[in-house]
Amino acid sequence: MTRRRWIADEFSADSAALTGAHAAHLSRTLRARVGQQFEVACGDQVRRATVASVQDERVEFTLGEEVEAREAVPITLLLAIFKFDRMEWAIEKCTELNVTTILPVIARRTEKHLALAASKRVERWRRIAREAAEQSRRIAPPEIGDPEKLKESLAKLHDRNVPAVVPGEDSGPSRGTSGHPGCDLRIVLAETGPEATLSEVLRARDNVTSLALAVGPEGGWTGEELQSFATSHWMAASLGDTILRAETAAIAAVAIARAEL
Ligand code: SAM
Repeated sequence: MTRRRWIADEFSADSAALTGAHAAHLSRTLRARVGQQFEVACGDQVRRATVASVQDERVEFTLGEEVEAREAVPITLLLAIFKFDRMEWAIEKCTELNVTTILPVIARRTEKHLALAASKRVERWRRIAREAAEQSRRIAPPEIGDPEKLKESLAKLHDRNVPAVVPGEDSGPSRGTSGHPGCDLRIVLAETGPEATLSEVLRARDNVTSLALAVGPEGGWTGEELQSFATSHWMAASLGDTILRAETAAIAAVAIARAEL
């Protein structure tokens, strides 16, 4: 039987708890009862769990044996900020597809009022991601960063990863071909320019140990932004001949990457 999975707010070696509104959902909306069986993700483990006590804003579990959980190649999604309702949809679906980190980015063509309001949305995005993670039986929700300018996200990822493309070997974001065993790969999705599709780029590489994908705003990336990606050793790839809305592009890109990796 597939048991519903929760991500613990608190845990120790043999017990775990949900707290606050998270617990209220289980205690009031789903009317949890002592003795009910679930799975609870505690850090990097998933354990069988039995409800030990139920209060409005606190549900405690006794933890049982570990449930096997498979590790997936980490995928970071650098997502330019676009209309919030559509962006929330992208966050939910990409969480279901097991994206590891989402970095909301203020791009040149992000609408100004959205850029200004974005920081107030982050908690909501994190809540949506946690609910989607539990619903899709993930071990943890994706980490969702605070909104920042593209330049800052590129610098952060650049510091964290070894270059995916040897400098000088690939002159632009349009057609990188170099892959290293065990490489950290970074790919910007662009609807004009790249000849290679995302699938082709991924199939040409063995042993990708981590992947970053970047999806632009409704108006697309500017030429200058694509140049910044190239300078930071990102390759560019296409998702085919039709132009997709940003949320469709994000979901399609993560789904293709999951399938190829
Ligand atoms: N600039 C375009 C326009 O206004 O016609 C549309 C940009 S599209 C709505 C938003 C983002 O989705 C793009 O920046 C790109 O990252 C991604 N995207 C959409 N279609 C794509 C495709 N066919 N290949 C690669 N990326 C795509």
